[in-house]
Amino acid sequence: MTRIAYVDGGFLAHAGACVHIEDRGFQFGDAIYEVWSVRDGKLLDEEGHFTRLDRSLAELQISNPKSQAAYRLIIRELMRRNRITDGLVYLQISRGVAPRDHPFPKGFVRPTIVMTAKSINAEKTQNKAVVGVSVITVPDQRWGRCDIKTVNLLPNVLAKQAATEAGAYEAWQIDQEGNVTEGSSSNAWIITAEGVLVTRQADQAILRGITRGKIMECAQTLNYSFEERPFSLEEAKNAREAFMTSASSFATPIVKIDDHIVANGAPGSMALALREAYLAQ
Ligand code: PMP
Repeated sequence: MTRIAYVDGGFLAHAGACVHIEDRGFQFGDAIYEVWSVRDGKLLDEEGHFTRLDRSLAELQISNPKSQAAYRLIIRELMRRNRITDGLVYLQISRGVAPRDHPFPKGFVRPTIVMTAKSINAEKTQNKAVVGVSVITVPDQRWGRCDIKTVNLLPNVLAKQAATEAGAYEAWQIDQEGNVTEGSSSNAWIITAEGVLVTRQADQAILRGITRGKIMECAQTLNYSFEERPFSLEEAKNAREAFMTSASSFATPIVKIDDHIVANGAPGSMALALREAYLAQ
């Protein structure tokens, strides 16, 4: 089967799909993106990701070139052409193509739209959650607006590479106060010894994960108490449970932080219950 991508109005063979060398996404990272998970042929948290897409564009003053209805149609067509039952849909919108110069281009420039879709092995993802994953920690080296979902991901890339080299699944980023901000591509959570769910408040130091929001709703349904506040690496190491959330990993238990085994090294029951509740919605 030929993989198909969507670029600026057309469906093209993925292998040959490209954008111009002076695209501002390529030159400056002047672009935003979104990722939806597809499960059993259905897009998860479709609305939430669209809401965040609009916010990211507004923060960078990129005018949205298409209506939400148009994106919804293109996404479905892309899923159909790539035969996606379980997978991910990626959408990137850059400020467009213009002669390389730092300020926004003068006059109208059409934003570039790129969409791709790929299948994932749902069973493999589920198996990870059953066993639990490990994380390493790295200093948070990012800029001050991590709440905008831009393609400026170099510190995240380096953090994930460090995790990969260490045989870990994710890297938790630690700020100058010694608090965990978030993972390289996920939000970070702990459950304290008292059974309270804790995740960092959605300030400009983290991305307000769509899955994070849904997990909070699940916590309410399950009658779990939760707090949005900073938590330190020390607190995480003493936690009863730890887990991560993202569109692609849902909620996945963490059983090891650096060399420290979390609790007894088995996935926590609350994290697993939250994952189940999230997937049942
Ligand atoms: N933080 C970062 C830095 C991310 O890249 C992601 C994944 N997009 C998340 C958190 C989780 O966000 P979401 O639940 O919307 O996938």
